[in-house]
Amino acid sequence: MSVHAAVPALAARATSVGSSPVREILALTARPEVISFAGGLPAPELFDEEGIAAAFASVLADRPGAALQYSTTEGDPELRAATAARLSKRGLSTEPDQLVITTGSQQGLTLLAAALVEPGDVVLVEDPCYLAALQVFGFAGARVVAVPSDEDGPDPDALESLVLRERPKLFYCVPTFQNPTGRTMTASRRRAVADVASRLGLWVVEDDPYGELRYEGDPVPWISSFPDAVDRTVLLGSYSKIMAPGLRVGWMRGPVGLLRACVVAKQAADLHTSTVVQMAAARYLVDRDLDAHVARVRSAYGARRDAMLAGLSAALPPGSSWNRPSGGMFLWARLPAGCDATSLLRTAVAHDVAYVPGAPFFAGAPDRAALRLCFVTSGVEEIEEGLRRLGRALSPTPPLP
Ligand code: PMP
Repeated sequence: MSVHAAVPALAARATSVGSSPVREILALTARPEVISFAGGLPAPELFDEEGIAAAFASVLADRPGAALQYSTTEGDPELRAATAARLSKRGLSTEPDQLVITTGSQQGLTLLAAALVEPGDVVLVEDPCYLAALQVFGFAGARVVAVPSDEDGPDPDALESLVLRERPKLFYCVPTFQNPTGRTMTASRRRAVADVASRLGLWVVEDDPYGELRYEGDPVPWISSFPDAVDRTVLLGSYSKIMAPGLRVGWMRGPVGLLRACVVAKQAADLHTSTVVQMAAARYLVDRDLDAHVARVRSAYGARRDAMLAGLSAALPPGSSWNRPSGGMFLWARLPAGCDATSLLRTAVAHDVAYVPGAPFFAGAPDRAALRLCFVTSGVEEIEEGLRRLGRALSPTPPLP
């Protein structure tokens, strides 16, 4: 008789880092009749399908052998050069060898965790924080500590005392049009973060996938641009929100020594980002006008933001509050005290509309009344209809006669 032994258990990290607790409810939003403000999805009808298809066709026609071959871990030289030129044009002088191309900026986070974080190390994050960053740091075995934050971003005094107390490896933030709140860190806060990093010694990971989606106001300087922080700041960028997320092309910009360690981690992870996709993205940047495309996306998204802002006071119960992001994809709302956005999501989905409850985004004490609304995936009329449904779902029960 053969013995059928049990397989060894999953690694502790695979069971301790949960998937999102609202995933199950959000799975119900896949029904086509649901208007979803939940996902962080760029609007598919705005993808430049024709331009991207032409870029792929062109590299496959001109250089099929190279496009279908293995390539270097650091990234396609033309894409690095075009990305460096674009960043320099936006005001952050960058050489191609200061960049590594990544498989989405999400991979940049994973590589940084591999290069910098030992199990038990402290990682500081904004509160609330981008959910998949919390997962990356959780997988790396970090002890994640939230920096108290307000509508202008993390509080610099709180950051300083936490750095002194916790001796963290790094501070992770999304300074511009943050996910999930849509807020933007002021220039003086950015300067203060650079100053703390320089005086007290820590890495700053500045994640900026949304910066080009600005609908009003002037750009705020990157933390990476403050001289104090130059040798300790890593800037993560992405083509997901300005070209298409399915390409999975992002980049990281940082000090050469740290990039070298990330390149070794990337070799172990995937050898390199898809050659053909990188070459197509580079060809697109040369042949097409990405700035003109981004301007079209900005104008459509700005109108969608305005439609959502216009409908919110009728959709959310009296006593709710929300912010007015100057760009990006998300808006942050707070239901009246005592409301629980997680339990109300079931009611919303029953009314064929969805949002993401805010609680899972907090590394510190969660705000159960908070929720995130994505305003870019649906068109203006759908946003208006979705808000009417939300209004019906969240309207206070009428008193019994
Ligand atoms: N950082 C933040 C703050 C994000 O919101 C996202 C995408 N939702 C990412 C990183 C990852 O983007 P990508 O891997 O597509 O570049």
